[in-house]
Amino acid sequence: MPELPEVESLRRSLEPYIIGQDIRSVLVYKPKLVSAHGTVRLENLAKVAEFERELPGETISSIQRVAKNLLIHLQSGKVLLVHLKMTGQLVYQEGNENKALGGHPIQMSEQELPNKHSHIIFRLSRGTLYYNDVRMFGYVLYYPNLMTLQSIHSFDQLGMEPLSDAFDLELFKKELKSRKRVLKTALLSQDIVVGLGNIYVDEVCFRAGVSPHRVTNTLKEAELVKLYEAIKMILARAVEQGGSSVANYIMADGSRGTYAREHAVYGRAGKPCLICKTPLESTKIQSRTTVSCPQCQS
Ligand SMILES: [Zn+2]
Repeated sequence: MPELPEVESLRRSLEPYIIGQDIRSVLVYKPKLVSAHGTVRLENLAKVAEFERELPGETISSIQRVAKNLLIHLQSGKVLLVHLKMTGQLVYQEGNENKALGGHPIQMSEQELPNKHSHIIFRLSRGTLYYNDVRMFGYVLYYPNLMTLQSIHSFDQLGMEPLSDAFDLELFKKELKSRKRVLKTALLSQDIVVGLGNIYVDEVCFRAGVSPHRVTNTLKEAELVKLYEAIKMILARAVEQGGSSVANYIMADGSRGTYAREHAVYGRAGKPCLICKTPLESTKIQSRTTVSCPQCQS
């Protein structure tokens, strides 16, 4: 599952290629991917027709990320919302060369495009943008303007964006202290900070020296500050490294994400702690595997 650093890395890599390009045509092979965004989705052929009618002739003006959503803005004000979910991927190709590739790693897409997972194809003025998805939980939705998109996808219920100036220490402390929740659950919830998935929460708690099992209203001032700093540091580093997720994460420019090599706890249960050598413990929080050091984290 692509996490925030992978989606941000993909955004940054697509940006220099697709901005300013015109959409020449759009092909939709799997109608349900452009029909709606729920778990159970019916094919809506009117949505497909709208997609194929409204997009050709438009110029891409910017690409924005909100949590794990990508918003492709068109010059006229129209917007495309892309969510990769579990197994989605975007690849931008010029000639036969993959210029930008990111999201879920799909081996086949490195050799052959389109392939059986290519469900939406945008022909642009200089190249082709493929939306590929193995299990098809992702979506690419068309909106005539940003206001309509926002009336349906309530981004304002999301927590703070950790890579932006909006990530405020005082607000972060207040949100954690004001409710009694298990720390890991609170950080995964997306209502305080967005973009922290299972991997990054474990890494953040380790770096901050705080147990993910702690109850949030018992966290001390110094611990809250350490958690805040760890979130900023770890996510910034992960974006720089192209994200991690599972080993072999493919970056938008075709190289492999290398952040996985830097995981201190995730995927290392039973192995010695990098600081004190104590074997790392594996537990479950809300049925999510959680790895921490019983010595360094309290
Ligand atoms: Zn330790």
